[in-house]
Amino acid sequence: MTTAREENERMLAAVLRLEPEDAAQRLTRSVAITAADDPASARLAKELTEQLERTVRVATPSEQADLEVAIGRSPDGRAADKLNVHIDDTSLTVATSKPSTSSAERTIDGLRMTFAGCYAAAPILHRLLGMEEAGYSPVRDPFVVKFGALGIPDELLDGPLEFTDVALAGAGAIGNGFLRALRHIPAVGTLPVIDPKRVGQGNANRCLYFNESDINAPKAPLLAARARQDFADLMLEPYILSFSDFVRDRGRVKRAIVATDSRRVRRTIQADMPLEVVDASTTDIREIIVHSHRQPTGGACLACIYRHIPDEAAREREIAQGLGISVEDIAQGFVSAAIAAKIVRVHSDLDPAAIVGMAFDSLFKQRCAEQRLPSAAGVQVLAPFAFVSNLAGAYLALEVVRLNRDALDRNRTNYFFLSPWAPPNARARIRRPRESGCSFCAKPQALEAMKTLWTDQPGGA
Ligand SMILES: [Zn+2]
Repeated sequence: MTTAREENERMLAAVLRLEPEDAAQRLTRSVAITAADDPASARLAKELTEQLERTVRVATPSEQADLEVAIGRSPDGRAADKLNVHIDDTSLTVATSKPSTSSAERTIDGLRMTFAGCYAAAPILHRLLGMEEAGYSPVRDPFVVKFGALGIPDELLDGPLEFTDVALAGAGAIGNGFLRALRHIPAVGTLPVIDPKRVGQGNANRCLYFNESDINAPKAPLLAARARQDFADLMLEPYILSFSDFVRDRGRVKRAIVATDSRRVRRTIQADMPLEVVDASTTDIREIIVHSHRQPTGGACLACIYRHIPDEAAREREIAQGLGISVEDIAQGFVSAAIAAKIVRVHSDLDPAAIVGMAFDSLFKQRCAEQRLPSAAGVQVLAPFAFVSNLAGAYLALEVVRLNRDALDRNRTNYFFLSPWAPPNARARIRRPRESGCSFCAKPQALEAMKTLWTDQPGGA
């Protein structure tokens, strides 16, 4: 079984090209967080602890550690190595030397604090895990996140964000991170939370609303139930369905908020023709992609951004071969009852009822870990660290706000590519053009069908 700890070990070993034992050893290192007793430092300490504790050990207040992180005060001598953290209302700084303390008022809203907690985790893990010595790109020192570069609109907290005719596709890591950030933005209405899958062994390494005892619980109702207390005026409605089945029941969905875990599923969501798409994804721990658009657009659609790539086809073939099913079965996105019956013909020790609702990636990883695959399949399916998924989720929530503000602006940016290991750069948001070979918007009949479906929308069709 691939546990949360093993997910992190595989991730670190792959990205630093380490022996598994070396990666495992690095992840046993601990961090001590010492915070000044002002409210902003204390809140940052809490956010940071939540982002770090699923990856490394956060020491209890009486313990020594491998690295001390001092927020808004001097270090306490709890570790030989130390980093200084400072937050005020304009920026977050993480540095080896003590940053000059600003006397600025510390009125930092929850959304900026969420970003700060995620971003602060990057230089801290980088240092604690010895990533630079192991050959990973260095991080800046001082590491300065200017809140102005996040792209949060000034009017963010003016009025509530309204959720009508919208759905969240994906209740996994980014879906968790999305709701953790969204709880700091006034929101009203109803948000369907859609996911056909169940919690896998390793999910607790990054899904902050889930824990290790949730294995096999359906993700959508679990996330809705856990997050419900964080929303006074937004109703979360769980559906154990694929997005396609949800759309088939509803007829159409105006806005898809996409937090699923595969490129293929993203292309099928585009084929279900939402008028608006807001999307965020991660590529292991190295990059985050944020995309949004409203039809009609001359720019990229979701299927342009997540085009079919040869690497993806090779991986799907290997997973299909390992599980004893076809690539067409994989296209369904998760293990159905019919596919489970096929899988147990090759994997006779499995209980078909127990694998229904699993992601193919998760089942494949589990069989790899148990060395129960018929061939020596070596495809790495890697899960990011918690702070990476949660940062992607926070950007997804922010992108919903940005789309609300400027959906009808034909020149708006629709794409944002960033490294979670570098401070944000406001100029990284760009407008990506259509792809000429796109499986959706390069087909005139798809655009015609889109026009017919949304002919009643202002600015549309
Ligand atoms: Zn396209």
